[in-house]
Amino acid sequence: MLKRFISKLKKTPSDAHASVQIIARKEHGISRDHISENALKVLYRLKKAGYEAYLVGGGVRDLLLGMHPKDFDVATNASPEQVNKLFRNSRLIGRRFRLVHVVYGRDIIEVATLRGHHDNAEGKQQSKKSESGMLLRDNVYGTIDEDAVRRDFTINALYYDIKDFSVRSYAGGMQDLKRRNIRLIGDPETRYREDPVRMLRAVRFAAKLDFKIAKETAAPINELAELMSNVPAARLFDEVIKLFMAGQGEQTFVLLEQYRLFKELFPHTQQCLDENPFYRRMIMCALQNSDQRIAQGKTLTPAFLYGVFLWPCVLESQKLLESKGMPAAAAYHQAVNQVLSNQQSHTAIPRRFTDAMRNIWDMQRRLERRVKKHLESILTHPKFRAAYDFLLLREQAGEELAGAGKWWTQYQQDNAHLIQQAKSQGRRHEESSERPRKPRNDRRPRRRNSSAQ
Ligand code: ATP
Ligand code: MG
Repeated sequence: MLKRFISKLKKTPSDAHASVQIIARKEHGISRDHISENALKVLYRLKKAGYEAYLVGGGVRDLLLGMHPKDFDVATNASPEQVNKLFRNSRLIGRRFRLVHVVYGRDIIEVATLRGHHDNAEGKQQSKKSESGMLLRDNVYGTIDEDAVRRDFTINALYYDIKDFSVRSYAGGMQDLKRRNIRLIGDPETRYREDPVRMLRAVRFAAKLDFKIAKETAAPINELAELMSNVPAARLFDEVIKLFMAGQGEQTFVLLEQYRLFKELFPHTQQCLDENPFYRRMIMCALQNSDQRIAQGKTLTPAFLYGVFLWPCVLESQKLLESKGMPAAAAYHQAVNQVLSNQQSHTAIPRRFTDAMRNIWDMQRRLERRVKKHLESILTHPKFRAAYDFLLLREQAGEELAGAGKWWTQYQQDNAHLIQQAKSQGRRHEESSERPRKPRNDRRPRRRNSSAQ
């Protein structure tokens, strides 16, 4: 399918990479049946109002690969205000990167205005870079050719044009899709400096699509990884969710460690991993389990994963405090507080998740001890299931817990009525499966601080 392209080459004066290849409707496999109804509504309405309208990025990429896109993004030459006027069910979001969200219940179609170059005088006013080269604001509008070179990877510079249903592939995106290549558009170092999150995105797409990161795209990562510290911690929290909760967590973790990016997200954990390989086993087991859960359509809570990633830090900090003479229980509580507070400056974990993490961790000792008079309240605790899964994981990774996991499995079977009772009394017995809020629906707009396209 991808072999027979009708191509037309065109060069823009400012960037030799902006060659475009136009693939006619008959020559690509995208059918409108595969595009969400809401995305189509947005595209048609924009077209009818006389604007250009394209499906863009991951949606087109995934459709061409025969995969189900997780969301659909739209690009148009209408300004955010014009889009906002056109859709009653829309809202303007982001200051530094203005976008429009068209809202259909829980489904949100993100509409971005085509971005232009920011090297000219007007562009300089509408965009802003930090000293390290990071783009802090990007509201320079432009043409589709200009927009394409502002996107991150060639495989994301693909546009499905609602006017004639053709696909426009820029910078060799289609070839890279065929060759299974993750390649940054433009000079890799400049592009990573503009937005260091692109390093994480390279790894994420390599794991998700099982593609290779091209040599020149991979080369600067080790050296530039530390730029990640300039990225707001709240944005990195969202990125971590995307990295580990999309079904390829294990492979993603391997790549992140390989490119020295994991230490930028979880520096203390990385230190523990380097000192004690047992912890790596636990993380790998957790990610294998969670990848399996996702493949089976089950849900997962970020609290569990964060709980796993930071558990080594809690244990090591506790040990250190105990070695200075602090009693075990006090050392544990101080360790938890320290670890959570240190991590906030790297990936800001929302309170609802830190609360859940504390619950899961606090219950470990209770699960190990199995004090008779507490058994029932432990079993009916809302976080029992997650805490029990956590205990099993520790055992699976090789921790010696005197058979506690097996014991609790049996105890649950023997006392199923208690769980049932608690449920019917309205005390929820959750699975370890509280679904994370989709980052893009979160209070914070996506990519607020990136150049994002
Ligand atoms: P997925 O939705 O599967 O995570 P995606 O490629 O659609 O992948 P999104 O984060 O939804 O990723 O972004 C949509 C598009 O916006 C991307 O395909 C890319 O063209 C552009 N984009 C997103 N983030 C950036 C960024 N940091 N820098 C440049 N372009 C970006
Ligand atoms: Mg997307």
